[in-house]
Parts: sequence; structure tokens; C-alpha cells
Amino acid sequence: MKKDRNIVFHLPYPLFDSHFHALHMEEKGIDAESLLPALLSSGLSGAVEVAVDELDFEKRLELAESVKGIRLSAGIHPSSTVVEKGIWKERFAEIISQVQHPLVRAIGETGLDFFRNYAPGDIQEKAFRCHLNLAAETGLPVIIHNRAADERVLALVKESECRRGVFHCFSSDRDVAEQALALGFYVSFAGNITYKNTQSIREAALIVPLERLLVETDSPYLSPQSVRGQTNHPGHIGYTLEVLADIRGEDAGELAAATVENSIQLFGGM
Ligand SMILES: [Zn+2]
Repeated sequence: MKKDRNIVFHLPYPLFDSHFHALHMEEKGIDAESLLPALLSSGLSGAVEVAVDELDFEKRLELAESVKGIRLSAGIHPSSTVVEKGIWKERFAEIISQVQHPLVRAIGETGLDFFRNYAPGDIQEKAFRCHLNLAAETGLPVIIHNRAADERVLALVKESECRRGVFHCFSSDRDVAEQALALGFYVSFAGNITYKNTQSIREAALIVPLERLLVETDSPYLSPQSVRGQTNHPGHIGYTLEVLADIRGEDAGELAAATVENSIQLFGGM
């Protein structure tokens, strides 16, 4: 653990953060542009900066172009699908154009959120289908957000031709993990696995083969237990990795190396 001003890193081995949101970190007072290079020279191998909508792409691209190791995704979060209602086609056309950029390595985050229900279910499903089709067409992996929507998420993936991607911030049970794996997907665990009363997520983590496992911070959200209450950032990824290694009874260094390798398999090298 190393202190740089008020920022604590925990990167005891090379690690890859498969999911973070730079602009949201900045809204919470973290200067991603100066923090990320420091993390990348302190053990972070790479990270995927994940889109929540079609806006601010230029700003995100500027960051990814200036900080080597940062990949981008392009997509519209299920909770953002209803804003600017009626112009879905125009909004999704932006995403289609963004995926042409070589630094865009994934489609998403997309999926279904029936917990917050910020958008009606039918709109969320329509948007999810668009993303799954785009992923299948481009061959890029899809990043799936699933909250209280296990059954519909799995059904829509099965209906689609998309068989490459990740169930991000996995918070479902073992049965859902089994189905995601059977569909060819990776499973990514975030800081919430380090919290108390997460027995079913921990049970799911036990059945994911090493070659399908990813870790993520989902920062600035979901700070791992050891730093809970602080704004999350990709330098905290080591805490989640260690808890995951402990649950699985594996060597943390070996698990870290596997997640880096898997991330590069899925999102490509630089
Ligand atoms: Zn996210």
C-alpha cells in the first residue's frame, strides 16, 4: 500500500481493472488524468473506461489517447435509455460511429436494470437488443449490467447471436453464473463481493473457471470493504482480487496474472 497525497493504491501485483468510469470519478473529485498514469506505472496493467451514454466521447477519447493502457467502451447504460425519449435511433447511431475507433474495445455497458427502473422495461430491452446485435456484428465483446433481471438478461442474450462478453459486477447466484459461462461469457467481480452477507455471490465465484474470471472496481462506486467510504478508483482493485483469491483458495498473484491475461484476451492488447 502506497500513499500519494490522499490517494491509496493497492496494487501488489500487475492487475487489470475491467470496468471503471473516469468522468464519474472526476465528478467525485478524483483527477483521472493525473491518477491513471501513476497507477499504470505502479502495477496497473490496463483498464477499461466504460461508457454510460453516447455523450462526452471526445473527452473520454482524449483520456484514452493520452494514457496508454486505457481501453474504451461505447454504449448506453440501461438506466440512461429513456433520456431524450423518441430519438433512440439518432442516439444509437452515435454509438455505431464511436465503435469504429480503434481504442473502443467493447460495447456497453448495456443490459437491464429492473431494480432502479429508471427506464420502462420495454425500452431497456429494445436498447439491450441493439447493443447485442452491434456486438455480434462487430465482434466486440459486450459488457452486461444486470440488476434484478436475471431471467430477461439471459433470455435476450440467448435470443441474440452475441456470445462474447462479460457479466459485469456479478451480483447474481451460482445458477446464473453457470448459464453465463455456458453462453461463452466471462464473469467479473467487483467490490461488493468483499461486503458482508454476499454468500450467493461468493458461491458463484467458486464455479467460475480461472480462464473466465475478471475483476473490476466499477469505480467511483462500490469501494471494497477495506476502503469503504472512500471514493473508489482503479488503484483499489487489489483489495477485491485478494478477497476473491481467499474465497477461491487460490494464490493471489496467480489469480491476478490470470485476470490480466483474460482481460487482454477479451479487450485486446495495446
Ligand atoms: Zn459501470
